[in-house]
Amino acid sequence: MADTPTLEAIVSLCKRRGFVFQASEIYGGLAGFYDYGPLGVELVNNIKQEWWRAMVREHDNIFGVDGAIIQNPKLWEASGHVAGFTDPMVEDLVTHKRYRADHLANTDSTDLAELKELLKDMKSPDGNALSEPRVFNMMMETFIGPVGKGDDAAAVQFIDSSFFETEEGKAFSVRIFEKTQLAYLRPETAGSIFTNYDNVRETMRAKLPFGVAQIGKAFRNEISPRDFIFRVRELEQMEMQYFIPPADQEEVYQRWRDFAWDFLFNRLGIAESNLQWHEHDEKERAHYAAAAHDIYFNFPQGFKELWGTHNRTDFDLSNHARVSGKDLSYFEESTRERFIPYVIESSVGVGRMLMAVLTDAYHEEEVNGEQRVVLKLKPSIAPYRVAVSPLLKNKPELVAKAREVYSMLKKEFGNVMWDDNSNIGKRYRRQDEIGTPYCVVIDFDTLEGDTANTVTVRDRDTTKQTRIVISELIESLKD
Ligand code: ATP
Repeated sequence: MADTPTLEAIVSLCKRRGFVFQASEIYGGLAGFYDYGPLGVELVNNIKQEWWRAMVREHDNIFGVDGAIIQNPKLWEASGHVAGFTDPMVEDLVTHKRYRADHLANTDSTDLAELKELLKDMKSPDGNALSEPRVFNMMMETFIGPVGKGDDAAAVQFIDSSFFETEEGKAFSVRIFEKTQLAYLRPETAGSIFTNYDNVRETMRAKLPFGVAQIGKAFRNEISPRDFIFRVRELEQMEMQYFIPPADQEEVYQRWRDFAWDFLFNRLGIAESNLQWHEHDEKERAHYAAAAHDIYFNFPQGFKELWGTHNRTDFDLSNHARVSGKDLSYFEESTRERFIPYVIESSVGVGRMLMAVLTDAYHEEEVNGEQRVVLKLKPSIAPYRVAVSPLLKNKPELVAKAREVYSMLKKEFGNVMWDDNSNIGKRYRRQDEIGTPYCVVIDFDTLEGDTANTVTVRDRDTTKQTRIVISELIESLKD
């Protein structure tokens, strides 16, 4: 196994080559928010497409949706997020910096009494006394409708509240304002999958088992966003909820665990030595889960959660049925039974997946006496499939021929880069760093003699160069 790169090496590559930038960098950035640059957006789109293909296109019974980021707030009350989507927090009593209590205590437990005990003799990272741990809700709030200031202030008067009860009997309220209404940016994409369960079942004439998949943004007011794009406040998720008869839960749960591992290894090319299973114990599990297994990846900061498989039982559909008043039960004709389907969930963050892919692919090595950084990405997800260069950019006959080859390849593959900057050695270094599997170079031998209409193809991983006839180039690159 290659050495795991440092976080600094990954951050520096991302900035240097245009994968990831700090959001609003010219204003000093904003903690927990990042933008993808030209290379990042290509790589991320390829990863998302690969997931969509494996998850939706290759399964007859999995359907896609793309739900709104803002939903009726009752959804998040029924799901338990308004009352229970919390992390334990402690505060440095001098600097007032806030920290995840479980992270400081280095435990998976989020139990407040246990955390209090573990932290009782601990100081903050700045060496100061800490407050007692308390819970902090990570839901991001916003307001819908015109929010007034000054003369308009009356427009945001609180006029009503409706009370609901959670399963444990806790009360919570929906605040309703005149002209404006409190709403939440979704903390996970799953919510609108549950509320569309019956729409999808009916429109697609789906019978159990079937799944609904979604890729989209989610927002969490993380107490301490950190480790680059590993823990952010605006994230993107790829989630799939698989609706099943309760009796099938164990077998299906295992199947979706296998799917996740197989996807990372076979479809993204991540080394198995960088992956580990982690089973949640009762204290770590989310409020909705009866069982949870994460795949941990060997990130620069250690093995951490990448992809979760959860058994959510009938928690979600039961609660949505109860709060909305809509019957979400399923009638199984073969057994003449009516029940609320169980849900096995597969959930992974796109940014974390990007970070895992970059960390796994990053290599520093010596080739022919020179140091290089190379991203050994699987060709199917590399931002550019191939780069095309004329050996010299001031020779019109070379440039014209190279343009011809470039157009031909671009028509076939789409993601092809034209690169005529600086000398050929530097171009190879640049393409190695962004993970381009092949560089095609048009030189004087392409124009005449026995080698006419052949080009040099240089392999990123082996750095070997071979001459290939232009008419066979597409097939050869596909191989
Ligand atoms: P963690 O324990 O790391 O906070 P979680 O268990 O709360 O994560 P889930 O709610 O299961 O995470 O979310 C599913 C997936 O979404 C995670 O496995 C992870 O890949 C991704 N994810 C969750 N929170 C974040 C975040 N703040 N930033 C980036 N990705 C995230």
